[in-house]
Amino acid sequence: MRRGIQPESLDTALKDEALALGVEIQFDATARPEDCHVVATGPRHPTGFVVGAKIEAATDEDRCVMWVGHPAVPHGYFYLVSSGGQGVVAATVLSSGTGPRPCLRSALAAMESLMPGFVRRCGPQFGGYGQFGLRPDYVQHGALWVGECAGLQDALWGFGINAALTSGWLAGRALDEGVDYNTLLEQHLLPWVRGSLVNRWLLERGGSSAISGVLAAWSIHQGVRGDGLPFIRRLYRPKWLRSRLLDRARADLLLPGDEGIECIHLRRR
Ligand SMILES: Cc1cc2nc3c(=O)[nH]c(=O)nc-3n(C[C@H](O)[C@H](O)[C@H](O)COP(=O)(O)OP(=O)(O)OC[C@H]3O[C@@H](n4cnc5c(N)ncnc54)[C@H](O)[C@@H]3O)c2cc1C
Repeated sequence: MRRGIQPESLDTALKDEALALGVEIQFDATARPEDCHVVATGPRHPTGFVVGAKIEAATDEDRCVMWVGHPAVPHGYFYLVSSGGQGVVAATVLSSGTGPRPCLRSALAAMESLMPGFVRRCGPQFGGYGQFGLRPDYVQHGALWVGECAGLQDALWGFGINAALTSGWLAGRALDEGVDYNTLLEQHLLPWVRGSLVNRWLLERGGSSAISGVLAAWSIHQGVRGDGLPFIRRLYRPKWLRSRLLDRARADLLLPGDEGIECIHLRRR
């Protein structure tokens, strides 16, 4: 999926849909939360970093590969996604011990030894950060907070597009149907968000042996069923054990931040 201002990106598609529905967009303008129905301003406090580079691949084949717990990116992961000869390599860093740019360099070097000659040319780099947190109330200053500014994000991998789109849709429903936004979030999103925090905590505590175990089980499921997604979905399902672990995950990983939000703190390791 492409992001950004180019014609075939998610962002452009959403903008075009909004314009077609008669929405007026004001660029380079800001507003106070008190004057908004919905606040969707993205991450404010970094709880993880991503840095990547566009690449030209030696083959047109589709490739999607991820390395977790590899020494090149010790407390995080790096991945390659490539299709039609164009792709990205990116490293996601979940601690403040190693800078994101050195991680990208070591990820590219590791890739060269793991898949020699696959990356033909490295193009422009990109990067950013993400925010994960839990808050007691997602309605503040009279506005509904959605996406990463509300901390709604996958704490395990830092993939927040699904949470941003889902919470945006729920905020729309809450306003349109007069339903309580917190209740909708509880029904559709928060159990998954909390599950992601427990998963992150388990992986941080379990280290590379836990990661290897999960990846081996995932790979077996993928092989047997021809689809790895049900296995991943189950990892996020709140179960009795997970809800008991949530308090420990919260105590270990979250710190109080602004406006009642508890954010993951990056530990120097
Ligand atoms: C490099 C990188 C790679 C990623 N890869 C993935 C991935 O593969 N899969 C995935 O699911 N997630 C990924 N993510 C995370 C994903 O991009 C975010 O979780 C998602 O975009 C969050 O959506 P959002 O709408 O909450 O915030 P954003 O997408 O950050 O949008 C917030 C918008 O609000 C604007 N804004 C900020 N302040 C104000 C203000 N005061 N007034 C008006 N506008 C304001 C910003 O300019 C921005 O346009 C990645 C993130 C990064 C940085």
